[in-house]
Amino acid sequence: MTKDDCLFCKIGKGEIPSATIFENDEFKCFLDVAPASRGHALIIPKNHYSNIFELDKAVAGKLFTLATDIAAALKEETGCEGMNLIQNNGECAGQTVHHFHLHLIPRNSGDRVGLGWPQGKADLDDNAKLAEAINKRLQ
Ligand code: AMP
Ligand code: ZN
Repeated sequence: MTKDDCLFCKIGKGEIPSATIFENDEFKCFLDVAPASRGHALIIPKNHYSNIFELDKAVAGKLFTLATDIAAALKEETGCEGMNLIQNNGECAGQTVHHFHLHLIPRNSGDRVGLGWPQGKADLDDNAKLAEAINKRLQ
């Protein structure tokens, strides 16, 4: 399952070069060309899933298992203190490459990586209702 016009499908197949950290039949992990910090890496499934809403559950499980190993190796190699794992879905959420990918961004105190959002104030009644409604969808 690949898309001819997809950048990350092409990287997955090796048609576009990447600084590859790890690869097997199903996944590839490579360094971002416009990194938020040194070691900023992306993990992709080689099969094309546009986003979390399309991603196969079994693939998701294996991808996150792989992420734990890669996070540990990245931390050891870069000496970072912490790490953000970020995953954008949809243009409104900042996704620019529409092939599922997980960002691993090494972090250090005082670095200038600008992540975060202004904190809102929850309506606790609405939170309770919303949590219950979503929970029903998971039954
Ligand atoms: P997102 O905004 O979550 O869709 O992230 C897409 C990421 O892909 C960005 O951080 C880009 O810098 C990165 N990117 C785009 N093209 C390449 C490429 N050829 N090799 C490595 N990373 C890339
Ligand atoms: Zn793709």
